[in-house]
Amino acid sequence: MNRRNFLTSSTVAAIAFPIASQLQTLSAQVTEGLKITSMETELLRMPPGKPFLDAIHRFGSEGGGVVLRLKTNSNITGWGYISFGAEIGGPGIVEGILQNLLKPALIGQDPTMSKRLRHEMWRAAEYSGTSGLVTCAMAAVDMALWDIVGKVAKMPVYRLLGGYRSSLPTYDMCGWYYDNDDDLSQFQKQIQGALEEGFHAVKIKVGRYTLDDDVKRIKAAQALLGKDRRLMVDANQKFNFTDALARGRVYQELGCFWYEEPMMPHAKKEYGALAAELDIRIATGENLYGKYEFLEQLRIGGADVVQPDNRRAGGVTEWMEIGAIADAFNVELASHGGAPTNMHMLLAMPNAIYMESGSLKSDTTHVETLRLVNGEIPAPEDPGMGNELRRDFIDKYKVRS
Ligand SMILES: [Mg+2]
Repeated sequence: MNRRNFLTSSTVAAIAFPIASQLQTLSAQVTEGLKITSMETELLRMPPGKPFLDAIHRFGSEGGGVVLRLKTNSNITGWGYISFGAEIGGPGIVEGILQNLLKPALIGQDPTMSKRLRHEMWRAAEYSGTSGLVTCAMAAVDMALWDIVGKVAKMPVYRLLGGYRSSLPTYDMCGWYYDNDDDLSQFQKQIQGALEEGFHAVKIKVGRYTLDDDVKRIKAAQALLGKDRRLMVDANQKFNFTDALARGRVYQELGCFWYEEPMMPHAKKEYGALAAELDIRIATGENLYGKYEFLEQLRIGGADVVQPDNRRAGGVTEWMEIGAIADAFNVELASHGGAPTNMHMLLAMPNAIYMESGSLKSDTTHVETLRLVNGEIPAPEDPGMGNELRRDFIDKYKVRS
């Protein structure tokens, strides 16, 4: 029997219609009438800790974050969380943008329509500007929308995005500069701790001092890592093109896996020239806002690994588009920052190679915790984004008005 003839159009319709009908019924049952009814925000402030530095920043003073909860007319609440390690003013501004600029565009809307709502938020914000902290606020909303979708579907978001892998290679950003650390004992202790925790790759900061100092740090890290573990270096925008090229040749010769953010993010033409000159992977993107800036960076050949930051990228929806653009350019994908906020999209992209993280041992922030198994983090399987924060964590750092 010729099956092509057997499956006449009427037969196909007879089979397909009940399935489509059932799906529509299921979809309608789940989402019909689902609306955003209110927005809650809480401001967090963390006290100063031990200072640590990169090539241009000094961290460890007060940090903070803003917690976002989008409530719906069902019993489902979507969570978003945006935090800043070094800007105590940032979270309060993001909260103001959420409450005053974006909330009117969201109340009463269907939370499963994330691209429509991104458009509505752009419209609400465009006259005062859609970049900078407005993008961070939109990212928090988008995360909360996907959290709602995941909870409605009772699935982790990475599966809804189209999962590609079930665990993610993760490296520890642990090689900072510290005060009074000329002998690198604090630096080495951090790397040793990462290896004991089970990381197979670590990143260190370079570029704050001389090239000789960089070489000393790289060799000290490599002595601990051995031949089978990878080392990435990050210059945090420090160099002009001439210095970026000179230092990059040395990092390349020493066998570093990638060379991150050698120059300022607007130096797109110079990134293209640097990537053409060097064989070492050029990684960048943590300070690019939205997909159009990534497209510009990639059109000029200015990255081998792109690293969207899920505050500046604009949330899950925009992040996935950035990942797909990078994939089309045959460029690898990592993240700036870790936690569930970054994990789900990486798990859904074929070109993802690493998630960035700090130590996972003492995470008291999230309800659903991540763990390391053989250098990788298994996919989180709770429904939603996994952004829900522990109540005791919020209570501990909440700013009282
Ligand atoms: Mg970086």
